[in-house]
Amino acid sequence: RFITLEGGEGVGKSTLQRALAERLNSHGFDVITTREPGGTPLAEAVRELALHPPENDSWSAMSEALLMNAARSDHLEKLIRPALRVGKWVICDRFADSTRVYQSVKGGVSTDILSSMEATVLGETRPGLTLVLDAPLETTAGRRSARNGPSDAFEQRDHAFHNAVRQGFVAIARAEPERCHLIDAACSETEVFVAAWSQIVAKYKL
Ligand code: C5P
Repeated sequence: RFITLEGGEGVGKSTLQRALAERLNSHGFDVITTREPGGTPLAEAVRELALHPPENDSWSAMSEALLMNAARSDHLEKLIRPALRVGKWVICDRFADSTRVYQSVKGGVSTDILSSMEATVLGETRPGLTLVLDAPLETTAGRRSARNGPSDAFEQRDHAFHNAVRQGFVAIARAEPERCHLIDAACSETEVFVAAWSQIVAKYKL
């Protein structure tokens, strides 16, 4: 039972992750919450390197795509697959869809290359359910700057970038309705939770 939470910055993925884990725990399930990029010590080190390169250097889109996939491979090998094997639930804040969206919106890597990297790294380990949180940029702008401050290089993107990211996630959700559910993240935390929980109940017949 592998669930991923996706969406642009500031849509409330980590808040939802905590609430879902709590609810699943209260049903007696063993739940692991994790995130990408990151999730293992090595993958967290890659996250740091990817998100905060030295001031006088930056990653090319291709190098960044490879880094994200290297981190994911480590995360899958050491944390996600072992947890799923022993019957734990895994809820991951961002996963492969984030790479599809961010690395292609940043340009420079074709969709074909991104898909083949994804297929190689994931193998059979694919999320059964992906909740895509979607909200207008005006709703998420405040949360983004409150959390990251103005100096975070990854957050200093213009409206067009965030809009492309948003559209990218919506497109994935529409293209894969079996796996993905779009959730209106402009609603209250409680409403977002209720919508997400109902998808989990339906999918896993709780
Ligand atoms: O999950 P969180 O919002 O903290 O993600 C950190 C940042 O990493 C995002 O703001 C996004 O810009 C970036 N990212 C990326 N490529 C990915 C995943 C995340 O550029 N595959």
